[in-house]
Amino acid sequence: EIRVAKRLDEVGFSDIVQIRNRVLELRTAGQVVHAFHGGEPFFETPEAIKYAMMRALVENRTKYAESSGIAPLREAIADKLKTKNSLDAGIEDVMITAGGAHALYAAFQSVLDPGDDVLLFSPYWTPIRDMITVAEARPLLIPTATARRNGLTKTLEHFTTPKARAIYYNTPQNPSGVVFSRAEAEEVAAFARAHNLIVIADEAYEDLVYEGEHVSIASLPGMAERTITAYTFSKTYGMTGWRIGYAVAKEPFMTAVRKIVLYSSNGVSTPTQWAALKALALSRSMIDARREEYRQRRDLLVKGLNEAGLECETPEGAFYAFPSVTKIHKDSRRAAALLLDKAHVVTVPGVVFGAQGEGHLRFGYAVSPESIEAGLEALHRFVKG
Ligand code: PLP
Repeated sequence: EIRVAKRLDEVGFSDIVQIRNRVLELRTAGQVVHAFHGGEPFFETPEAIKYAMMRALVENRTKYAESSGIAPLREAIADKLKTKNSLDAGIEDVMITAGGAHALYAAFQSVLDPGDDVLLFSPYWTPIRDMITVAEARPLLIPTATARRNGLTKTLEHFTTPKARAIYYNTPQNPSGVVFSRAEAEEVAAFARAHNLIVIADEAYEDLVYEGEHVSIASLPGMAERTITAYTFSKTYGMTGWRIGYAVAKEPFMTAVRKIVLYSSNGVSTPTQWAALKALALSRSMIDARREEYRQRRDLLVKGLNEAGLECETPEGAFYAFPSVTKIHKDSRRAAALLLDKAHVVTVPGVVFGAQGEGHLRFGYAVSPESIEAGLEALHRFVKG
């Protein structure tokens, strides 16, 4: 019998790929589609970053780099971690990875043994569940809304098991837009210390917080040594296609992460790293300006969704709205299909992000205000009709 490794039988390709294909089909057929299914910034990579890449090429910075990443980039990241994240990290605590996704993959591979359990707030970013499964561990779903209502500690205590080894902590969250408060971060940290858990923190959207503050959980007392944090250039700098991010951890986890990256990719392309160095040198005011643009898009979309009768809380961060769509159909896959076929409004069914996302649709608002308005108009027409 010819077959692949058994652990891959448990995971598949996401619904989002199928949705993307359907959109291409409609567009090819000349139809106007209102695309809210994406998760990419609305702006292009800043020119200065592109020129830094070209310069690196012209200067022949094209050879193997240290597999941890070029030193100037890791130094600049260590500085950023101090000023922005209140993390006391040195160059030895930073590993450059092929995007946040690779940092997260390396983190899970570094801490999980077969049969371990991982606490996972749900709804969650879909690939996380698959990464846990590929590590032959089991996700324990924590319903985020219930946990926030009834208390995080109480809920985590209720769902944890003696086999729990790690907790995935994503703030701001995809798909819900939830931003955990400092008090909530402190609760999760206390729980992790009490149960001797490793925290795998995902801060991909750290620069997209509209209400409250972004707290890096590793900055809390006693947490740096038990946290692996994943960061990315994708969302902040409009660099999704460049595939660059980084993992931050102390020993023994950093050596483990280095091994996984070494065996899987042996590091990120050298010119890309020089370009990322330029990104970190850009003024923070650019990031602040983008955040205000996102905020306006968010407010426009959330208002329109509520007016159409799709109940939607105002997301505190990231660039997704996650309204209830039971008014259209209680099955979110059916609701998404109806919206797509009848109104050409493209969303992602909430159930894709875990059972706790059922009854919701994810609308990404990293698109132009004009596209949001046109999409809302199509949605209103559909709901009325
Ligand atoms: N984490 C979350 C929650 C995300 O939504 C994403 C991208 O959508 C990532 C991590 C990783 O992004 P990338 O691999 O492009 O850095």
